Amino acid sequence: MNLQAKIKKVIEHDTKFITVTGGVCSSIGKGVLVSSIGVLLKNAGYTISVVKWDPYLNVDPGTMSPLEHGEVFVTADGAETDLDLGHYERTMQVQLTRKSSVSSGQIFEQVLQGEREGKYLGRCIQLLPHVVDAIKNRLIDFALEQQSDFVLIEIGGTVGDMEGNIFLEAIRQIRLELGKNKLLHFHLSYVPYLSWAHEIKTKPTQHSVYALKGLGLIPDSLALRAEQYVDSKPIEKLSVMCGVEKEYIFQVLTYTPIYRLFLDLEQQGLCEKIQQYFGVSIPRKSDLSAWRQLISLIEESKTDVTIALIAKYIGSNDPYISVIEAIRSAGYWNKVNVNLVVIEAEQLEKEKDNPEGEVWKELASVDGIVVPGGFDKRGIEGKILAARWAREHQVPYLGLCLGLQVMLIEFARSVLGMSDANSTEFNKDIQHPVVSLLTEQQAIERKGATMRLGTYPCKIIPGTLAYKAYGKELVHERHRHRYEFNNVFRDVFAQAGVVFSGVYPEKDLVEIAEIKDHPCMIGTQAHPEFKSSPLAVHPLFKLFMDAVVERFIQKKKTDQY
Ligand code: GLN
Repeated sequence: MNLQAKIKKVIEHDTKFITVTGGVCSSIGKGVLVSSIGVLLKNAGYTISVVKWDPYLNVDPGTMSPLEHGEVFVTADGAETDLDLGHYERTMQVQLTRKSSVSSGQIFEQVLQGEREGKYLGRCIQLLPHVVDAIKNRLIDFALEQQSDFVLIEIGGTVGDMEGNIFLEAIRQIRLELGKNKLLHFHLSYVPYLSWAHEIKTKPTQHSVYALKGLGLIPDSLALRAEQYVDSKPIEKLSVMCGVEKEYIFQVLTYTPIYRLFLDLEQQGLCEKIQQYFGVSIPRKSDLSAWRQLISLIEESKTDVTIALIAKYIGSNDPYISVIEAIRSAGYWNKVNVNLVVIEAEQLEKEKDNPEGEVWKELASVDGIVVPGGFDKRGIEGKILAARWAREHQVPYLGLCLGLQVMLIEFARSVLGMSDANSTEFNKDIQHPVVSLLTEQQAIERKGATMRLGTYPCKIIPGTLAYKAYGKELVHERHRHRYEFNNVFRDVFAQAGVVFSGVYPEKDLVEIAEIKDHPCMIGTQAHPEFKSSPLAVHPLFKLFMDAVVERFIQKKKTDQY
């Protein structure tokens, strides 16, 4: 079917498209706006699907440093994607696939492969029409496959970036081809407040809209990202200068907890205006009661527990965003606020002989320890020391992927006397490779998308902590790693008090392990954080937080005596 015929089908199905672009600068929360729109529409009873367009040339972010790009979110079908997909899944309560993450790299790869296969024989391949057509085809195929009421599209980057232009051109064309009021374009723009002038400034937004107009796009709606309430004067000015109706100018303010934004946007009439734009005669209201309940829970939480995240990537919390969200959410449902301290693993290692030093004192004061995923050697010894602290001091511990490996390496070194125990990822020249590569991984040299990725089944052994958490014998979790616990050592570990409570049956690989004689020391080879959401906390995070709170209460009691 050609593109025109596919577009006709999409129109017949009455699919409505919503695009979100960003203006002035990055990090103003396009993902949060898209999530909010999705939450409002979904809770008004509409079906939604969502796609993120990333203008970078990497095929996916899998090979980028988390410090460069933030967390790599993994979908159920094993795609390594932008962290915004995590926001979407957590808030909209949807399960996305690799089709929701499109980069320029993927588009160019497809076009260039087509060229080699002779698809364009005789023609000169150009950005326009070939690359733009490839983008349009992807979007329309996605819409046809999803058959949802709304397709939300977030365009990464900032308007004015050269890389984004092919995506904006695709939107310009599709908008025309779909016909009137089939695509609603939101432009989220930063509106600064200048404290020295006591004034909110609209000029950066005006310029960003001029840039859009230069590309043939006039936004239908403006979302103003501001630090404080924007009153009517700047809104009127923006309406005139940008050519956007006042009723379609919304404010995106900073809220804690962030979910309050959903309530605010509903109050501003966002959901209703969207429906009006698309000609829905009786707009539906969004039922946000579940989010309201969560917000009340958060507000009622009076106690603070402190959780340490033993991190390698320091400077921004984006590399650990899903882990942090999962920890916080587990706190909400236990009615505790989580005071999260990010401890630099390397620092623990550097200061290992100085227990009175700041970093060790900080670790000693926490109520729970989480060791998240990670790659390469840097910081490993510090993570092992943190696991040792947790085991010896009965502090609840949750190990995620690398965190499981670290927990087992520590056990081998301290309890089993295997002083050189390690993962072959960090040292190949050892007698006790307790974590190593499977033979099938050994031959792989290419780096992109070659790990054990996506969903795998895990059999849970009854009577274990893992079973207590999940309450069932078969679960499915998402993976992103190359190395595995080395089964050669399984018996010795088991005899010394490690319970292998979850196994991938087909290959008999260790998925979950826990330490006996400890209130809660558990590690999983998977990434359960990708399946946790504020409204449905993942069982392993809940198990961990229950143990943290239990210990906290006990400690308080003993401290009183
Ligand atoms: N580096 C480890 C591995 O590849 C752990 C990966 C992770 O934590 N995601 O197995």
